[in-house]
Amino acid sequence: MSETVGAVTQNVKPSTRSLEDMPLEPSADIKKVWGKVHSDMRQEFGEAVFRSWLKPLTLQAYYHGTMEVSVPTRFMRDWIQNHYAERISAICSECNAEIKCVQIVVVQNAILDDVVETQKAADAPNADTDNADEKLRAAIEEVSSPLDQRFTFDSFVVGKPNALAHAAARRVVESNKIPFNPLFFYGGVGLGKTHLMHAIAHMVKEQEPEKIVMYLSAEKFMYQFVRALRANDTMNFKEKFRSVDVLMIDDIQFIAGKESTQEEFFHTFNALVDQNKQIIISADRAPGDLNGLDERLRSRLSWGLVADIHPTTYELRLGILQSKREQAGATVPDSVLEFLALKVTSNIRELEGALNRIIAHADVTKQEVTLESTQDVLQDLLRAHDRRITIDEIQRKVAEHYNLRLTDMHSSRRARQVARPRQVAMYLAKLLTARSLPEIGRKFGGRDHTTVMHAIRKVEELIDADAQIAQDVEVVRRALTG
Ligand code: ADP
Ligand code: MG
Repeated sequence: MSETVGAVTQNVKPSTRSLEDMPLEPSADIKKVWGKVHSDMRQEFGEAVFRSWLKPLTLQAYYHGTMEVSVPTRFMRDWIQNHYAERISAICSECNAEIKCVQIVVVQNAILDDVVETQKAADAPNADTDNADEKLRAAIEEVSSPLDQRFTFDSFVVGKPNALAHAAARRVVESNKIPFNPLFFYGGVGLGKTHLMHAIAHMVKEQEPEKIVMYLSAEKFMYQFVRALRANDTMNFKEKFRSVDVLMIDDIQFIAGKESTQEEFFHTFNALVDQNKQIIISADRAPGDLNGLDERLRSRLSWGLVADIHPTTYELRLGILQSKREQAGATVPDSVLEFLALKVTSNIRELEGALNRIIAHADVTKQEVTLESTQDVLQDLLRAHDRRITIDEIQRKVAEHYNLRLTDMHSSRRARQVARPRQVAMYLAKLLTARSLPEIGRKFGGRDHTTVMHAIRKVEELIDADAQIAQDVEVVRRALTG
């Protein structure tokens, strides 16, 4: 790659200079030009890009029409070179026609170390790069979260609700090239997103041990980033994250509303996609429904394959229970598994928890697992499930109360006598179920989450202002929970 950029490019020089040919201090004039270039770059590329990439550029020297500017890492140099160098060069020439060329060099704070390092790398590329690679790999592994050994493809039971997500995960580990980027999993809590991500990580590590796989939660990503910011060490952070072969970020919804983390993630994301590295993301909802996420990021997240994991079906729950029973090597009658599959419908984590509890109980009491003992042991859990209120129920009760048809809950009619009860139903759905706003919107004829939010606010207002509405809401609520 050419190290020199700008209007004149024949003057190719090594990017890291030795101490011997250190050029002269730039004159006051040139320093002034550089100050102007800096502010022009901020104008042209915007605050975000400027802060992440261009601000660290430091004027080092000026000689014979060449402006020499430095960055602290090789990674940054390459990135700026590929993305911004041409324009920077043009901006320089606009500021001062004498400047023919801008050269980006790597100058670490401890310049001597850098020179020595680079020289060594040039002399004995293999030995030293290996060493550096190992160091980087160790640093990256430190950032990654540990993988659960149990979360493998072998232990993942495939059914209709997760078939697409599972097939996509397999594609990622089986293809020679990157099949889709990013791969985006979404679905409710406890439905297997993390399990699938770990399964991919295990498989990649097994098949291609040289690959660097980084798996972490979005929360940990943010923590690492903020820590780097505080320590003034973002270069190191960037370098680490941009050196992985596979990046997996779990529960991305966590960074909604966290602007600088999002921005950093966006840059990481783009850098990796550019380098053709696989990215895998999970969230509790579809990219388009991730409120508080920057529009650019949302749209990029849906560029690859978006695979949703649906709530479990009876068949899948039974299949999972059978598989877990086998893994545990426990004796549990089929009737008990069927009973659990029927009763514990929320998510797989809870289903697993229920099975573990009855197995543990049988173990401790040295009694066989029976339907009776199961009902006894899981009393609290089953009661909670029996009481679980659904949106359908809410819609039915509200329609009944207001003398409407059930279809009015889904229709697009806006007449007050229909719209108001619909808003009440949305409000109760938020109040009495664990459904998210987008999920509620979907249940009400595919409405947008903002419509749901508006409805909730409206009803809250009305409850305070209008005794009749307050009473209606209370009557329906009691009918549902009573
Ligand atoms: P999520 O990340 O979607 O909240 P997890 O991946 O943590 O959910 O899954 C919750 C629990 O359910 C884990 O113990 C996981 O092993 C188990 N699980 C989820 N889906 C399956 C599946 N299809 N087959 C077997 N176990 C599953
Ligand atoms: Mg998870």
